Amino acid sequence: MSPFADCIAQPYWLDDAPLRRPDPQPLPPAADLVIVGSGYTGLAAAIEAAKGGMSVLVLDRGPIGAGCSTRNGGQLSSSIKPELAKLTARHGETLARRIRDEGYAALSHAQALIAAHDIDCDWRQTGRYLAAHSPKQFDGLAKWAEVRQQAGEPPITLIPRDQQLQELGSERYHGGAVSPLFGGVHPAKLHAGLLRVAESLGVTVQGNREVTAIQPDGAGFAVRAGTSTVAARKVLIATNGYSGPLSPWLQRRVIPIGSYMLATAPLAPALAASLIPKGRMVVDTRRVVIYFRMSPDGQRLIFGGRAALMEADPMRSLPRLYQMMLEVFPQLAGTKVSHAWNGFVAYTFDELPHIGVQDGVQYCMGYCGSGVSLSLYFGTRAGQQILGRPEGATALDGLPFQTRPLYHGTPWFLAPSVAWYRAADRLLG
Ligand SMILES: Cc1cc2nc3c(=O)[nH]c(=O)nc-3n(C[C@H](O)[C@H](O)[C@H](O)COP(=O)(O)OP(=O)(O)OC[C@H]3O[C@@H](n4cnc5c(N)ncnc54)[C@H](O)[C@@H]3O)c2cc1C
Repeated sequence: MSPFADCIAQPYWLDDAPLRRPDPQPLPPAADLVIVGSGYTGLAAAIEAAKGGMSVLVLDRGPIGAGCSTRNGGQLSSSIKPELAKLTARHGETLARRIRDEGYAALSHAQALIAAHDIDCDWRQTGRYLAAHSPKQFDGLAKWAEVRQQAGEPPITLIPRDQQLQELGSERYHGGAVSPLFGGVHPAKLHAGLLRVAESLGVTVQGNREVTAIQPDGAGFAVRAGTSTVAARKVLIATNGYSGPLSPWLQRRVIPIGSYMLATAPLAPALAASLIPKGRMVVDTRRVVIYFRMSPDGQRLIFGGRAALMEADPMRSLPRLYQMMLEVFPQLAGTKVSHAWNGFVAYTFDELPHIGVQDGVQYCMGYCGSGVSLSLYFGTRAGQQILGRPEGATALDGLPFQTRPLYHGTPWFLAPSVAWYRAADRLLG
């Protein structure tokens, strides 16, 4: 029987924290702040703005939380992609260090937010194992650890291949590196917890409300959703990888990239315990990265990667993703898959998140595939900026949000780039 026979096309996480049914309530005529997008960014900003005394309305075109925030891998890291040297070459050392520090601030902020609101989301500081897919990459990790140490960033522990079985039940990798501060959450429980907090502060959150226009209107904006219009003093666009024609300016600046995940059916206890013995989050060094972890109850493997480019049907890319999983864990051959799903992350041309104001409208997005902690952090900062509070300042304020000629939101360059990166992973190590 096919391992996919019982598989459903839905995030595994929604078994524990289902999305709410569409809400038929009428929209209020006015709000101090309207937020477009009900993921972590939108809710974190809403919580902050509501605490600051604003009336807040959050709208989503799908069910509440339908974007990445209930369908990610739940890996929490410091997440700023470019290393210090690259940022220094672009922005000078002082700003480069401040940008790198924002990643660690985001990681601490996410934990503080979860603790402050007592959000039950299975947060555990498991550490993350970065697995080297080639001997060359393992050598690179040693240099990387040294550079990070010289830069004063938290230490990383190298694990040579002959000790790797304590980290991974796989022969596929050539050693790796442990970042002990990183960890994991149950992403949909985290989202549900934030929604509860936002609503307890008086925020109105509605799904199935696509915002189709934001028109300047006197001192504020007329926000159009379906046949309704809301008068808003301020607006935040928090649509990340789902940014569409609502703002062509933003659409030209974020690159939506599909990421695909599967959850296995519960595994035999001994097999489950042997895959990632210390229960860490795992990513590998490939240019076309794969990432995996155990479910919070330790029974299933949750495995993700770029199994297709812009494919919207996760069942079609599932055989390829399954094959990718078997390359790491051949002992899972024949294992049943219970869930398969995908989502769209937002890359940017400089690989940094962006927060700012365009035509009077605040935006906050572009986490480049690692946005759990960043979206909570920059969402909170966006809320503070909207309130006009000095603590909302970030190292990324004022950075140019780049686009490229001929780019209008459809990443025509993605297929050849990914094909090249895949080949490079195979041939160059
Ligand atoms: C498969 C997958 C795995 C991932 N794994 C990890 C991981 O392990 N660790 C990590 O750090 N990050 C991970 N990420 C990325 C992370 O999930 C995101 O960066 C983060 O959730 C972004 O949150 P957000 O609120 O900005 O956007 P989203 O949660 O995507 O929310 C944007 C929302 O905007 C709504 N929207 C769009 N247009 C409109 C409109 N016109 N009107 C109303 N609403 C609109 C969408 O419906 C959507 O709900 C992963 C992403 C995916 C897809």
